[in-house]
Amino acid sequence: MAGDKTFTMIKPDAVVNHHSGAIIDLILREGFKIKALKLTQLSVEKAKEFYAVHNDKPFFDSLIAYMSSGPIISMILEKEDCVQVFRDFIGTTNPADAAEGTIRNLYGTSIENNAVHGSDSDENATIESDFHFSSDERY
Ligand code: ATP
Ligand code: MG
Repeated sequence: MAGDKTFTMIKPDAVVNHHSGAIIDLILREGFKIKALKLTQLSVEKAKEFYAVHNDKPFFDSLIAYMSSGPIISMILEKEDCVQVFRDFIGTTNPADAAEGTIRNLYGTSIENNAVHGSDSDENATIESDFHFSSDERY
């Protein structure tokens, strides 16, 4: 059975370019509930740990530099069938291919600078939420 939570980050490009408010507004209007939220910055070490699954990819070093380059807003979201519904809502990895009106279509500027992250499975949603939030930081 699909779970009801996912983990997301508004990535440094979107935060620095003042899109956080608009992105959070879209998320809330779509019916996702925010269960945890914080502004933080990933260290290089933390970014490497978070994206360890990609450590053999040609874009890994660039991804780590980008994700640790500035502030992020991390959130736990709740909605029915949350992981898949949220991934559909943010659009494909490459903003150039993302459906009109999706967050990456609206605010992503390249395949790397694609504005937001969304967990890709219920299992990873739990792992990623635990990576970013302690139990007393959640509603
Ligand atoms: P995310 O995990 O951030 O939600 P995703 O699941 O759509 O994105 P992944 O394949 O997990 O995509 O890639 C993780 C991130 O690595 C992407 O969101 C993007 O920032 C970056 N990335 C992926 N593919 C490329 C690429 N070909 N060139 C540069 N950066 C890339
Ligand atoms: Mg991914």
